[in-house]
Amino acid sequence: MSNELPVLVIGAGLGGAAAALGLARKGVKVKLLEEAAELGVIGYGIQLGPNVFPMFRELGVETAVLAKSHFPPDVLMLDAVSGETVSRMPTGASFRERFRDPYVAIHRVDLHHCLLDACKEAANVEIMPSTAFESVEDLGDRVRVKTKDGRVIEGLALIGADGLGSGVRRHLVGEEKPVPIGYVAHRTIVPMSAAPEHVRRKEVILWAGDGFHIVQYPLRDETLFNIVAVFRTENIYERADEKAYRDVLMKTYASAHPTMHDMLRVMDLKRRWVLADRTPIRHWSKGRVTLLGDAAHPTLQSYAQGACMAIEDAVVLARCIELGKGDFAAAFKRYESERVLRTARVVLDSRSLWEFYHLGGIARDVRNEAERRKTEDDMFRCVAWIYDGVKLPESL
Ligand SMILES: Cc1cc2nc3c(=O)[nH]c(=O)nc-3n(C[C@H](O)[C@H](O)[C@H](O)COP(=O)(O)OP(=O)(O)OC[C@H]3O[C@@H](n4cnc5c(N)ncnc54)[C@H](O)[C@@H]3O)c2cc1C
Repeated sequence: MSNELPVLVIGAGLGGAAAALGLARKGVKVKLLEEAAELGVIGYGIQLGPNVFPMFRELGVETAVLAKSHFPPDVLMLDAVSGETVSRMPTGASFRERFRDPYVAIHRVDLHHCLLDACKEAANVEIMPSTAFESVEDLGDRVRVKTKDGRVIEGLALIGADGLGSGVRRHLVGEEKPVPIGYVAHRTIVPMSAAPEHVRRKEVILWAGDGFHIVQYPLRDETLFNIVAVFRTENIYERADEKAYRDVLMKTYASAHPTMHDMLRVMDLKRRWVLADRTPIRHWSKGRVTLLGDAAHPTLQSYAQGACMAIEDAVVLARCIELGKGDFAAAFKRYESERVLRTARVVLDSRSLWEFYHLGGIARDVRNEAERRKTEDDMFRCVAWIYDGVKLPESL
C-alpha cells in the first residue's frame, strides 16, 4: 500500500480514535481530524459488553481498559414504582465462563484516553484538533477534504466517524435528519460521598418506569457515582426555563420510587441529550469514502452498545483495509457487508427494548411477570447474539 498520503479519519470520538489506532497498528499512516479544540473531555459513564474486549486486544489496549474498569456483580432491572427486582443478569463468574470476557462500566474519559494515548504513541498517527470537516471530493486515486476554516487536506481515503450529526454522511447519503424519539437524557457523575447512602451499590441498575428510567452504577474504584436519568417529553427539551423544565420532569417522575427522587435531587439537569437514532440503511460507503459508529448506524442506548459497535466497526474496517492492499472501494464494501446486519439489528432491537423498558399499566405487570420467570441461561441466551462478538474477516 502506498504510504505517501494518509488515510483521513473525521472525528476523534471513541470510534474515530479506535479506527486511527487500528490502522496505525497495520502500518497505515493516519490523520485524525477533530473539530473540538480539546480531546477526550466528555465525562460520563459507559458500559461495555464482553464483545468489545477481543477488539481491545486487537488494538493493544485491553490491559489499560481493564485497569480503569468497574466490574459489577449483576445487571439489574428494577420496577421504578415498587422498587422490586424484575430481572437479574449475573455478570460475575458464570458470565465470564459463558462469554469469556467481562461486562464492565468505565468513565468515558478514561476509555477515550486509553485509545488516544495509544494513538499518540504511534508514530504514524497525526491528531489534528480544531479541524472541522466541511466537504470531501473523491478524485478517484485520492480524496480531498476542505475544512471549515478553509484548509485543504488530501488523503488516500476518508472514514467519517463524526457521530450522530455526521457531515460525511450528508455527503454520502444526502440530507436526512436523525429521528428524535421524544425522550431526553441527563447524565451526572457525583463523588460517591455525595450520592444518597442507600443508592451506593456495585451493580449496574436500570430503574424502569412508564415513560422514564434511571441507570446507576459506580466508577473509578467506586469513588464516583454515575446517574443517567431519561424521560419522555413533548417539546419541553427545547425550553430554556429551568424551573418549568424541572416541574415537567418531576411530574413525569411523580409515581417513581422514593430512591429515584433521591437520585434526581443530586442530578445536574442543565445538560440534556435529545435522544435520537436513524433508521438503518444498507450502504454507507462510496468509492474511497465510508462511515463508522454513530455516523453510520446511531442507536438508542437500550443495549448500551453504541460505543461497542463503533469500536467493533473500527477493528473490522482496519482488517478490511489491510486485506484490500490499497483497493479502498473493495475494502469498504466488504467492511460494510460485514457490519450492516449486526448494527441494524442493534438499532431495531434497541427500539423494541426501549418500549419494553417504558411500559405502563397491565403491560408493565405482564413484562415483570415474564421477566421474573427467566433463568440465568435465558438471560444469557437473549444477549448471546451481541456478546458472542464478531469474527474478523480473513479475505475480501
Ligand atoms: C445517554 C447515553 C448513554 C450511552 N451509554 C452507552 C453505553 O453504556 N455503552 C455504549 O457502548 N454506548 C453508549 N452510548 C452510545 C455511545 O455514546 C455512542 O454510540 C458512541 O459515543 C459513538 O461513538 P462515535 O465515535 O461514533 O461518535 P461520537 O462519540 O459522537 O464522536 C464523534 C466525534 O466527531 C467529532 N465531529 C463531529 N463533527 C465533526 C466535524 N465536522 N469535523 C471534525 N470532527 C467532527 C465530534 O466532536 C466527536 O468527537 C450512550 C449514548 C447516550 C446518548
